[in-house]
Order: sequence, then structure tokens, then C-alpha cells
Amino acid sequence: QSFEELSLDPRLLRALIKKGIEKPTPIQRVAIPLILEGKDVVARAKTGSGKTFAYLLPLLQKLFSDSSPNNRLGPAALVLVPTRELCHQVYSEVTSIIELCRAQLKVAQLTSTMSTIEMKQALSGPADILVSTPACVHTCLKAGALQPKAIQESLSMLVLDEADLLLSYGYEDDLRSLTAHVPRRCQCLLIADVEKLKKLILHNPYILTLPEVGG
Ligand code: AMP
Repeated sequence: QSFEELSLDPRLLRALIKKGIEKPTPIQRVAIPLILEGKDVVARAKTGSGKTFAYLLPLLQKLFSDSSPNNRLGPAALVLVPTRELCHQVYSEVTSIIELCRAQLKVAQLTSTMSTIEMKQALSGPADILVSTPACVHTCLKAGALQPKAIQESLSMLVLDEADLLLSYGYEDDLRSLTAHVPRRCQCLLIADVEKLKKLILHNPYILTLPEVGG
């Protein structure tokens, strides 16, 4: 199966060609159509399986076709990751695809090394896609740099990447302070092997069990 058969936007197909990425990995083949359909998805996937593009490609496609007015208060998509390193990695992956697509989407990241003022600047605009650790989102909510109302009104997609690590780093309370504001209509994707989080935010999710690929 090819990326064309997954009904991806021609801009994304061109970006993948420019990146030298030819064929979808198993997780991408299964997850992309379900995410495009709007399902909540729990996927078990390791680093190296192509998990990042499995959620980033449909996420971007949805934002490309989002016809809602451009006066959102907060981010349309929030990607939560357990570490600063993964935050930088996802931020640069998504920025690079957006550039290759020549799309007008704003991406921001929040990391623990930023001051509250820098976090406020990153959130101003506001960003279409925010990549952060749960702790930084929690800090911004507490400092008033991110309003619960902005999340309630704007968020249409939430991704928990490496969700097993998100929990093992003791982020559970930070996650709860955020999920309290996640609207019911928000599509939630959870990448990891975590049964626990299902009950917290997902609604009747698809659980994909796939052969593990890569390192
Ligand atoms: P990840 O599992 O998301 O950490 O991805 C691992 C690496 O695989 C990244 O460097 C991606 O650029 C690359 N990658 C993602 N999808 C594909 C694919 N379909 N074909 C080849 N490489 C890919």
C-alpha cells in the first residue's frame, strides 16, 4: 500500500517524496485512515516504527482542511511528549513538513528551559500546533499564560506520544489538570502501551495491536 492510497493531501505526498519517504510503515497504514476518519486511537508503537508521522500526517491534513475561522484563542492541536528532547524532535519534524508543504500553520513548543515570558510569547498568535511536556502546559495554565477557556474552545486534537513514559515520569497530575479542560469533541490519540489512560480521556477508542517494527 502506498501513501496515495491512504488519501493523503497532495502537499503531504510531495513533502514525503522530498524527504525520501516512499512507503507507509505498518503503524502508518493502519493508523492514518482511522485518524482521518476522526476516531480516537490507542496505538502500541515503538520509536523507529514511524509512529510520529502516523499521527503528524493526518493531524496536518485535518488542519489543512480546517475551515473554522482564524480567530481561535488557543492551539487546535496539542502534542504532549515526556521529554525536552522529544519535544524538539517532534517540533522540528512538524516544522519541516509544514515548510515542505508551504502551509501557513504556526507551530510552537514549550520546554522547561523557557521563562514564563518566553512561554507566553510562544503561545501568542496563537499556535495551530503546540508541542509540549505536560509539566510545561501545567505551568502555563497555573501562570495564566494559557487559559482553560482557550483549550476548551480551540482544541480539536490531542496526542499523547510515548504515553507510557508520560506516566512513568509522574506527569499524571499535570495530565489530569489539562484533561479537565479538553472538550468532549476533541479527537484523542494515545501512542504507547497504556491501558490506564484510556479511562482518563478517550471515548470508545480503537486499540491497534501491530507487529513491532524497527528499533
Ligand atoms: P519514529 O518511529 O516516529 O521515531 O520514526 C523513526 C524514523 O523513521 C524517523 O527518522 C522518520 O523520519 C522515519 N520514517 C517515518 N516514516 C517512515 C516511512 N514510512 N519510511 C521510511 N522512514 C520513515
